[in-house]
Amino acid sequence: MTDPQRSPPDLPPIRVLLVEDDAADAASLRRLLRASREVRFEVSEARSVEDALRRLRDDRFHAVLLDLSLEEGQGLEALARARIAAATVPIIAMASQADEDLAVRALRFGAQDYLVKGVSDAQLVVRTVRHAVERHRILTDLASARQREHYLAMHDSLTGLSNRSSFLDHLRRTLGYSARHQKRAAVLFLDLDRFKSINDTLGHPVGDDLLKVVAERLARSLRQTDLVARLGGDEFLIALPDLEREHDAARVACKLVNVLSRPAQLGDREYRISASVGIALFPRDGADADVLIRNADTAMYHAKAEHGRGYSYYSDGMNEIVAERLDLEHGLREAIERERFVLHYQAQIDVATGELVGAEALLRWRDPARGLIPPAVFVPMAEETGMVAAIGKWVLMRACVDAAAWRTRHPLRVAVNVSSKQLVDPEFADSVARALRESGLPPERLQIEITESSVLEQRGPTLATLQALRRLGCGVVIDDFGTGYAALTALKWLPADGLKIDRSFVANLTTDPTDATIATGLIHIARGLRLEVMAEGIETQEQLAFLREHGCRYMQGYLFAKPVAREEFQAFLDEAPWEDALEEGLC
Ligand code: C2E
Ligand code: MG
Ligand code: MG
Repeated sequence: MTDPQRSPPDLPPIRVLLVEDDAADAASLRRLLRASREVRFEVSEARSVEDALRRLRDDRFHAVLLDLSLEEGQGLEALARARIAAATVPIIAMASQADEDLAVRALRFGAQDYLVKGVSDAQLVVRTVRHAVERHRILTDLASARQREHYLAMHDSLTGLSNRSSFLDHLRRTLGYSARHQKRAAVLFLDLDRFKSINDTLGHPVGDDLLKVVAERLARSLRQTDLVARLGGDEFLIALPDLEREHDAARVACKLVNVLSRPAQLGDREYRISASVGIALFPRDGADADVLIRNADTAMYHAKAEHGRGYSYYSDGMNEIVAERLDLEHGLREAIERERFVLHYQAQIDVATGELVGAEALLRWRDPARGLIPPAVFVPMAEETGMVAAIGKWVLMRACVDAAAWRTRHPLRVAVNVSSKQLVDPEFADSVARALRESGLPPERLQIEITESSVLEQRGPTLATLQALRRLGCGVVIDDFGTGYAALTALKWLPADGLKIDRSFVANLTTDPTDATIATGLIHIARGLRLEVMAEGIETQEQLAFLREHGCRYMQGYLFAKPVAREEFQAFLDEAPWEDALEEGLC
């Protein structure tokens, strides 16, 4: 029971528009509502439909009480017009007792409820209005929840871009239109390069933020009629409808590759990303959405393998190349699980004393079907897919264990090639320390070979790793020196003990005066900076003589020894055949 003394609680009032042309009926209803002790009503009145529509346009109401027997006699038509004017406001129809049928029909025309005039008591009127308002609120909430659900089903939750299913819907509609109007269209498949290693080394929150940056850049670079979607991971799809010329697709791809290659600032750090794009054209490369996406994906793999301009058009025959590559990738994963690798060792000679100073460990993949695969075939792929981390760990451990077991006259050091992807891994120095500890190899007998271009990729983390390696007591040398574009400036800040002159300069030493000048220049610079200098790829006595004459003391090449397997290398240490090559040179 309600307490007659209690005033309505202090809740916001329910604002009601009362549309009633009979002044007496209006006054009695208003009285009923105002008398309510449970809810506060704020009642506005309109005497005609026109008046009501104006008020609905200008003001906000929670409910409308609409008399169906207005003098204008518009009945249900009045209701229909009110619904159009205020689609979001619930309407309660009112009719006289004689017109109850009409009131019931009003429900079918969109009224929330109805009241019979003169019969409904105060409690019923109040309850009817409150229920109508409440039910309407619930229905509105439900509708927005459904809308949200629909939005989530169509969009990628991380980036807000369309997802695969809405992209497919859109693409199918676009292609239908293009086919009917004989127009061209293109599908672009975009994939970030080495994104897995970003996630692995920098963590998923950074990876997610970078994906958001990518999404935002893509959306900003495209026309409103183009569609971009995230497929998942670091894969994006772009539909270009209504393409005028085939090469317009390459222009867009090129623009996207460029936009993404700009450094991304997150917090106080700058990140570099790059992307590869595959292009499939409609109708040339496929008549339906699925085929086009598949072919664009194939072309994307091709763009990645080419290491060129970052994009590639689909062409016949590409499928086989990509299939081969995927096959190789699968094989490499299996090789890691089953440790199908071997290290070959190549001697490094001190030509001043004729002694062996060390050996470089060179990796080979021993595949049961394909035979021995050289590193140039699989190391770049291992770097792209992030597999190089696991392979690198195996190489380090194997090389340290082998070197610790060599029986030699003098302690020999082992040189291990390390990829730039390993250098940015904050745990890399720890894995070196572990390999040294477990193998028992003294740190000064391990030399890490890094390439000059690798140190430029992410200078901060690389530098931290190199300093940690120096603290451990290992040597660091710069491999393939002279082939990267920042050779000399890198020497200023890089903690290195030595450098290796790339064999491309050595090959033509005695025939090409430019190469001879570069090689001698590099030797002088290294000596000036007190760095140990080694030349690699020595194949002839002439090359040996030239380099020796110009002050290069350490050498490695087929002239002294080819890389050989561990067992052969031990035999080789016992026989010391490189001495013959040196003696021949001295005669
Ligand atoms: P690199 O470190 O510059 O290794 C020297 C390459 O030159 C080796 O090729 C070696 O076999 C070859 N070579 C040595 N002397 C001569 C010569 O007199 N004439 C000619 N024509 N070639 C000579 P390989 O073994 O095929 O290795 C190629 C590259 O693969 C290496 O270049 C290195 O960058 C990379 N690599 C090798 N092992 C590993 C590894 O364990 N990890 C990583 N990340 N990279 C590796
Ligand atoms: Mg090397
Ligand atoms: Mg080299």
